[in-house]
Amino acid sequence: MSRKRRAHTSFDWIPVLDDNEEGQPLPDICIQHTRVDLDESGRSSSTTSFVPAPASPAKKTRTQYDDFNWNNEPAPLELNTTNYPFLDPAYQHFLDVNEPGPPLRYLRELIRLDGRGESGVAATCGLCQVEEPKLRCEECFSGLMFCAKCLVDLHACNPLHRIEHWNGNFFKHTTLKDVGLRIQLGHRVGERCSNPATATGDNFVVINTNGVHEVGLDYCDCETAQHRTTQLLHARWYPATPVTPNTAATFNILEYFHLLTFESKASVFEFLHALMRRTNNISITDVPDRYEEFLCMIREWRHLKMLKHAGRGHDPAGVSATAEGECAVLCPACPQPGKNLPENWRDAPKELQFLYSLLLGADANFRMVRKKVSSEENDPTLSPGWSYYCEVKKYSEHLATGLEKEERSTCVNHHAMKDANTSRSANLASSGIGTIDCIRHNFKRPNSIGDLQKGEKYINMDYLFLSSMSHTEFVCLTMSYDIACQWYLHLWERMLGFPQCLHIDLEGRTVTFLVPKFHLPAHVEKCQTAFSFNLTQGVGRMDGEAPERGWSDINPLSSQTKQMGSSLLRKIKNAVPERSEQVWSFLEFSKSLPADLVLKWSEMVERWEKDEDEINLFVATVTRVTQHGVRLALAQEDAANIEREGSVAIHDDISPAMLITLGLELESQQVRLKYDSGKLDGSATMLQLVKMQERKNSLRRRINTWTTIAPYNLPLHLPSSLPARVPCPPTLLKYELKLREAQCYEALNELHNHLRLRTHMYKYKNKNIVGQRANTRCQNMIHSVQEKVNASATKYRTARAALMKLSSHSLDDEGWRARLLTLDEEDIRPLKEGEEGESEGARTLSWIWKVVGVGGDSDNEGLQEALRIEWCRSRARAMRFSEEVLFLREEMRRVLAFLDWHAGWWDERRFRLTGLSRDEEEGVIAYASKQAHIRRSMRSTFDRIWCSSHELIQLGIGADNDILDLDYAAGADLLNTPPEELLA
Ligand SMILES: [Zn+2]
Ligand SMILES: [Zn+2]
Ligand SMILES: [Zn+2]
Ligand SMILES: [Zn+2]
Ligand SMILES: [Zn+2]
Repeated sequence: MSRKRRAHTSFDWIPVLDDNEEGQPLPDICIQHTRVDLDESGRSSSTTSFVPAPASPAKKTRTQYDDFNWNNEPAPLELNTTNYPFLDPAYQHFLDVNEPGPPLRYLRELIRLDGRGESGVAATCGLCQVEEPKLRCEECFSGLMFCAKCLVDLHACNPLHRIEHWNGNFFKHTTLKDVGLRIQLGHRVGERCSNPATATGDNFVVINTNGVHEVGLDYCDCETAQHRTTQLLHARWYPATPVTPNTAATFNILEYFHLLTFESKASVFEFLHALMRRTNNISITDVPDRYEEFLCMIREWRHLKMLKHAGRGHDPAGVSATAEGECAVLCPACPQPGKNLPENWRDAPKELQFLYSLLLGADANFRMVRKKVSSEENDPTLSPGWSYYCEVKKYSEHLATGLEKEERSTCVNHHAMKDANTSRSANLASSGIGTIDCIRHNFKRPNSIGDLQKGEKYINMDYLFLSSMSHTEFVCLTMSYDIACQWYLHLWERMLGFPQCLHIDLEGRTVTFLVPKFHLPAHVEKCQTAFSFNLTQGVGRMDGEAPERGWSDINPLSSQTKQMGSSLLRKIKNAVPERSEQVWSFLEFSKSLPADLVLKWSEMVERWEKDEDEINLFVATVTRVTQHGVRLALAQEDAANIEREGSVAIHDDISPAMLITLGLELESQQVRLKYDSGKLDGSATMLQLVKMQERKNSLRRRINTWTTIAPYNLPLHLPSSLPARVPCPPTLLKYELKLREAQCYEALNELHNHLRLRTHMYKYKNKNIVGQRANTRCQNMIHSVQEKVNASATKYRTARAALMKLSSHSLDDEGWRARLLTLDEEDIRPLKEGEEGESEGARTLSWIWKVVGVGGDSDNEGLQEALRIEWCRSRARAMRFSEEVLFLREEMRRVLAFLDWHAGWWDERRFRLTGLSRDEEEGVIAYASKQAHIRRSMRSTFDRIWCSSHELIQLGIGADNDILDLDYAAGADLLNTPPEELLA
């Protein structure tokens, strides 16, 4: 969006011909004047002209400022840029404590205002010019002194200003009431009622943003007088009670506090105390304490605002007819049948149905506790189940039935962990709250919040879930919950124990249960694929974590709608290029594999997506070979050998497998030590050098010990490094061969991880790093990752060299040769990078990626499996991103449609009420029109900012979606609608 600037208005410059000291007119010079105009579209045009102007008069000499006067502008300060190179110049000025500097100048001005200023010399009132001026208003702009009568007259329209009285030496606070101001309600300003009725006790208190005011208040008590509280409300003062109130709060302060609770979470108590201090900071006890009253008013105010926003004041049926959940702000991007969905959404082809699916998440928050200080009976809610909370009575009635059966967990025992969270529930009425949110947009859903009594029990969460769904139409639902794998098992059975109105008819509907990404690693392996957002069709790019994020910022919900424009734009800007990359890399990957294999896997994975009981290609069946695994296998072999007694006993305590394993470990320690000591240069400290020497000594000792038990007497020679003529027991040779092979695989595996990390670091750097310092730090990290890449490569090469040597001892187990190739420098490249000189389309995978966890006898099985899993994951990633782009397009459409619908809804509410007074009717129409206007202007704002990414949205259709294999004919309007029409 281009920033629009107002065009500078041109001006006529009249040269003032000032005579200089010699009495001669100053010589003219030419001043360049450029005029810049901006038109509506933000394009600028400029015209340059030269204006003749007199030269500046000669600079006055510094001596004139010698007589320092703090009213004058001081000479600019020499900024000390060497001491504070990063400091804000404004603040730097303030660090200068020398005489003309701002701190002292500002301070003097603050103190000056404690006196009467220029009014101090005036003997008469600034207005009537007669009386002695003794009063000043702290808030009126003038700062002048007035007599009591004039000040009172001046404040007829500002009766809540704070004033002060000059007692001859200093100012003291006083009130307008004390100097004689009476506030007359029920009449026009300045008009006196013929039959005024002073507020009971004449001690009325008004709470306003600038303090707590005691005011002289008179109601109108004429024949035509309105109810007293109505008279207060007319003046935008909210009465604390409907009957003879003696406290009111201005609408201003209620609105202010309402906003503050969202932004700063200030408590009523703290807030009111700050106001009381503001009124009288010396003696707070002199200020009337209206805490209870304010608490009550705030509560009522929120309630009224909610009703107003929900249009309840525009409904002829009135407030009592409010339906359950009606006052909740709905998510404009979620599917809302009848509001933002096409009429035939239920008939959409099956594979497109996901676009209309609801994505919800359940969560519990144990920080929001409520102490046992009151109860629903003593302190009932004003809006039972009208917005986000479930209707409390029904909820607690159901909880009282206490139907909670212990269920055996088929996964980790999640409940044990959850209960650990909630041990401190002794004197709490509720130990937390549970909620159901839409996870794509983070909106709380109507009737979906409830108290938790003792931890996160199924009975609570079931109720919240069913209650949240009870007013919702859907065909597909994806439900995310951190223990979904357990919760869903008997959910529908448990549902039967709930009141009929909460039952969900599952006929023709699909409900998918998933576990949020962040929680998934805590689950058993089976859950990792069955409940994964990554591997599930039709969920786009979701992590399922919305509820947890939502707790940190519960902002006003209406502003959440306003943010939707920019957040959806940001999402689609990220998703479209990411989608293209994922699709490309999947296609490339597929190309590098044998076509028949890809075809076979495609069929298998599609079958699995349709039916979970089919073979799951994401799960590894071949166990990976690791050094640890081989060691274990060898130990078992040793044990078997000992039993057979045919083994070569090398040492009483040490088996051959142990010997080789120890040897390999010592060898790698040696390598590490060599590398580390190479890093120590001339700058190394004494301590570092000593430490290094200690490590060397210790390793030498261990190697010596190893040598004494080895059957040949040479310093750390593993069988592979023995010359061919030195005899070595074949068992040892065989063992080392196996361990070396495992070492190769491990090294390759490390290499994969480090290369992935390196790619990630580069990407991260390009995307996020600004500034030199951050850049250097990132570069250092990349450097250290590169060192790890090198180390893994060396490890592989060493291990492979040993393998070569071992085979020269004519060992026949040569299967490794086909799999473990020579590692050349150019082989070390990330998954997605081709060899140099290769064209994009012909990129091939480096062989290192095709060898993962090979094991057992069947050579190909392990390789195939690694590739298959990688391929399936790549496919899933590409599909999720493609879905995400379609999701975002649909959501953008839905938001616009929803705002349209809502604007129309408000339009329609303008003329529903009858029998109103003229004033009331105007208000009703004005408010509804304003609400409709807000929706429409929001819509056009979104439309405008989304226009900037029409191109991206255009990219959201077409070829890249082929991966989803959608039925284009059926979904033509959805998939191929050009953005202009989509957003029209
Ligand atoms: Zn006066
Ligand atoms: Zn004033
Ligand atoms: Zn009156
Ligand atoms: Zn939503
Ligand atoms: Zn699980």
